[in-house]
Amino acid sequence: MTIRSFELLQPRSVDEAIKLLTKHGDDARPIGGGTTLIILMKQRALHYPYLVDLQSVSGLDQISRESDGVRIGALTTHRSVELSPPIRQSFPVVAEAFSKIGNVRVRQTASVGGNLAHADYRLDPPPPLLVLGAVVNALGPNGSRSIPIKDFFRGLYETALEPGELIVDVKIPFMPPDSKAVYLRYSSLSGNDWPCLGVAALTIRQDGRFQELRLALGGVAATPLLIEGLDLVKDQSVDDSVIDKLLDVVDEQISPSSDMRGSEWYKRKMVRVFVKKAILQLSDRVSV
Ligand SMILES: Cc1cc2nc3c(=O)[nH]c(=O)nc-3n(C[C@H](O)[C@H](O)[C@H](O)COP(=O)(O)OP(=O)(O)OC[C@H]3O[C@@H](n4cnc5c(N)ncnc54)[C@H](O)[C@@H]3O)c2cc1C
Repeated sequence: MTIRSFELLQPRSVDEAIKLLTKHGDDARPIGGGTTLIILMKQRALHYPYLVDLQSVSGLDQISRESDGVRIGALTTHRSVELSPPIRQSFPVVAEAFSKIGNVRVRQTASVGGNLAHADYRLDPPPPLLVLGAVVNALGPNGSRSIPIKDFFRGLYETALEPGELIVDVKIPFMPPDSKAVYLRYSSLSGNDWPCLGVAALTIRQDGRFQELRLALGGVAATPLLIEGLDLVKDQSVDDSVIDKLLDVVDEQISPSSDMRGSEWYKRKMVRVFVKKAILQLSDRVSV
């Protein structure tokens, strides 16, 4: 199928991009790497007469280390995040998640802003960004906003972005002292397929006991999910009875749907396997 014709608008600044999006309303979309949008337009699942090309705006593809964390520009490619020294040094779990996406051709082109704005429930980056407490910074016709990533995903392919609003960057605060994090993804079809599910975990432990545990999952609800109610692990050592209670808490909050990557029953079982694996890995009980 051929793509229906559209006009590519090339603003020179974020403000100009927002003005163009506001002017053309529902007839326009921003385009980052185009890896999702162009496929959907080629399939004629979507059509926009105007695409606002963010690649013509300079300065949106920078990764900068700041006093309290690292800022990743919206147009930074997946590959740049994967290979970035500040990210690999401060957040290896983020580099790991980006390194698993699709294939190197996709990662070389696709942008961080496009990934989050697409809001697919299976995306790899959101679970680690959720446990790290990242913030999405957006700019729109009504000014700038910082949206905690836990409030960013609103539903299937739905985000908190307002019409005409753009993701400008994502800020990841430095990890708390004595914390460790891991991201495990499970593909049930082939290694470079979309994940069947993804699990990110972050722990802070003292003298072998949990001070804090954060868990986030992808692929098992309409949106990436930050698990709530994990206080039960505080001051507990990592034994199987604590893990079993945790797995029940997780099971209550997920709502996987059956698809070609597995049935609901199978995904619930695999969530238990991978959450346990992540926790054991972080507690040094096993090294997988
Ligand atoms: C073959 C293939 C395999 C893939 N496998 C995986 C995988 O395993 N894991 C995974 O996580 N992802 C996977 N992806 C998805 C990939 O990560 C997305 O295609 C990509 O992140 C989208 O980025 P983009 O810059 O190309 O976005 P685009 O296609 O340009 O845009 C996507 C959406 O985001 C909007 N948008 C873009 N930039 C912004 C912005 N700055 N502000 C607001 N809205 C914006 C666009 O309007 C559009 O709605 C795969 C994609 C392909 C093609």
